[in-house]
Amino acid sequence: MKTISIVVPVYNEEANLEHFTQAIYDVMAKMSYEYELIFVDDGSRDGSRAILQKLQDKYDWVKPLLLSRNCGHQIAITCGMDHATGDAVITMDGDMQHPPALIPTLLDLWEKGYDVVQTIREATEGVSWFKKTTSKYYYRFLNAMSETEVYPGGSDFRLLDRQACDALCQYREHDRFIRGMVGTLGFSQAQVSFTAPERFAGTSKFSVKKMSKLAMDGILGYSVVPLRIAFYLGSLCALFSLLLFAHVIVEYLLGNVLPGWTTIMVCVALFSGVQLMLMGVMGEYVGRIFKEVKNRPLYMVMEKRGDYTHGKARKVEKVELGE
Ligand code: UDP
Ligand code: MG
Repeated sequence: MKTISIVVPVYNEEANLEHFTQAIYDVMAKMSYEYELIFVDDGSRDGSRAILQKLQDKYDWVKPLLLSRNCGHQIAITCGMDHATGDAVITMDGDMQHPPALIPTLLDLWEKGYDVVQTIREATEGVSWFKKTTSKYYYRFLNAMSETEVYPGGSDFRLLDRQACDALCQYREHDRFIRGMVGTLGFSQAQVSFTAPERFAGTSKFSVKKMSKLAMDGILGYSVVPLRIAFYLGSLCALFSLLLFAHVIVEYLLGNVLPGWTTIMVCVALFSGVQLMLMGVMGEYVGRIFKEVKNRPLYMVMEKRGDYTHGKARKVEKVELGE
């Protein structure tokens, strides 16, 4: 029997975990697969860890992995994929915004021979205008800048065949944008659209800061275009300053020597601004190189519960939740 691993990053999701586990059970129990549900606790500070422990005590197919601190959603997913033992690995959020009801469709496409089944979020109920608009233009910008295509609305709800998952797990960069990485993987890929419902409970754990970090990772990790823009902009400014220099010489020869305070100020402001900007772009890349050469582990697993050897995912007969 084939085994399916479901990987779920968890950060302060105490109000969702039991409901989510039940929903997964309801879907998986109808199919003839063995399965494991790997919750990667990303340093939760609420009651999530205790609930995961309770779930694991009851069901051996629930496997919590506790990270030593909050490493971020993308790293948590990576940790889960590293530990997943299934023939196919599904990653999804634990707040019901990635509907478990879509899992059979993903598995169906996998059985038809697709190695990667990517879901595309068509719309999200109750999401702010700000998030919708920034997301739309971000994907346009990203695709214009980088060589690999990332689908607008692409989410981290996807299925990976064992071989594709192993390939993805070999990408060990620290600033991760998994959607972009999957785009570069190749294999045969299929897409499924879905409408994301509102969160079952709790609030979004993705602050504007975390969102901006992910957006930067997407651009800087997959494109050297910003460096190229810096080069062209720098060249343009150098050309402009040459013209300005010629103008100053001509004025000098004509005897129109003015105090020139304005010109100097404009030049100083313009060029120091451009230089700082270019240094900033370089700095972003240098910072990333710095992180990579340190080669620190992506995450530390504090505690592992459950059996992670291949073929040990077990299907259980019944489930009782929410006592
Ligand atoms: N998450 C995580 N670490 C974080 C932030 C979020 O593991 O630092 C998890 C979170 O528990 C959820 C998933 O990532 O299962 C998606 O987060 P969220 O629903 O807050 O994002 P949104 O749907 O608002 O984009
Ligand atoms: Mg969510």
